[in-house]
Amino acid sequence: MGKIKVLDEHVANQIAAGEVIERPSSIVKELVENSLDAGSTRIDVTVEEGGLQLIRVTDNGSGIATEDCEAAFFRHATSKIESGKDLFHIRTLGFRGEALPSIAAVSKVECVSAAETGGLGRKLIIEGGSIKAFQETAASRGTDMTVRELFYNTPARLKYMKTIQTELGHISDYMYRLAMAHPHVAFSVKHNGNLLLQTLGNGDLLQVMAAVYGTSTAKALLPVQGENADYTLKGYVSRPDVTRSNRQGMTIVMNGRTIRNYAVSGAVMSAYHTLLPINRYPIAALHIGMDPSLVDVNVHPAKLEVRFSKEQELVRFIEDQIRSILRGQVLIPQASRPT
Ligand code: ADP
Ligand code: MG
Repeated sequence: MGKIKVLDEHVANQIAAGEVIERPSSIVKELVENSLDAGSTRIDVTVEEGGLQLIRVTDNGSGIATEDCEAAFFRHATSKIESGKDLFHIRTLGFRGEALPSIAAVSKVECVSAAETGGLGRKLIIEGGSIKAFQETAASRGTDMTVRELFYNTPARLKYMKTIQTELGHISDYMYRLAMAHPHVAFSVKHNGNLLLQTLGNGDLLQVMAAVYGTSTAKALLPVQGENADYTLKGYVSRPDVTRSNRQGMTIVMNGRTIRNYAVSGAVMSAYHTLLPINRYPIAALHIGMDPSLVDVNVHPAKLEVRFSKEQELVRFIEDQIRSILRGQVLIPQASRPT
């Protein structure tokens, strides 16, 4: 008798969860990305005890159709792509169909969703990957996901969680970036009843940056706007005298997706060149737009890292755009500085 067995779905989901769900902020990310993919214009995030006790994401998006509620929690089940060739022009944040089954495998999930405006929806309760209840319920259009007791059934994972403050830091950092990536969406974030972030969703990136960094910092931001045949660039960068001690203040958004890319953040830094004090970093929120075929987002499971096919051109474009803004800026205040 051979020894190889195909793992049952529960075990397979727990293994996948190990990759997708590193910590509470991973759940916030996956749920909020689903809300964005569903076309939501308002997304409310509630977190308790750094997300270890509770994470709740409520949206006013398309909702999940009654017949899809259970399937949404199946592995590799997605409404966002249909075939391999779709991988080369992805326009949604999700596409792997791994988040919901992974989350449900390591927590207690309550999913309330309605795809119609009639006031009737479905409530699905899943604990540790097993469906406990599935019933009709009153619900307005949209989705309301509550995730409780993360890692309750995987104590080894739970032990690796850091303090509530650290976990909350990851969540708020992520939500700040996301709010800057989506100024047309109204976000709220609450932790243990305290409001951490609230944005209006009126499309004004500067207002979102003011909500994140404070109004006095927002006043020291310079608008950036430019394009060439391949790329568009839009956003704000800080005056060289408004800096931070780490790179966290740089938010790079590519086609609506917050990304981490050293070449791009390096381009921002080198635009400042000698204007920045040593070991200081600018604040920036930059939206880069390009044809999706010029970028591969299918590189990393958390989809933070991306690969550009014409990276050198992109780097030069960003550096040139920001340098010309800064150059204009540095000359003007010096000339008009009171003596
Ligand atoms: P993916 O996002 O990669 O498709 P997920 O496991 O995150 O996979 O979600 C599975 C499916 O459940 C999605 O493709 C979508 O159809 C549905 N879904 C999940 N969350 C929402 C939501 N907030 N609003 C509408 N549909 C959702
Ligand atoms: Mg998803």
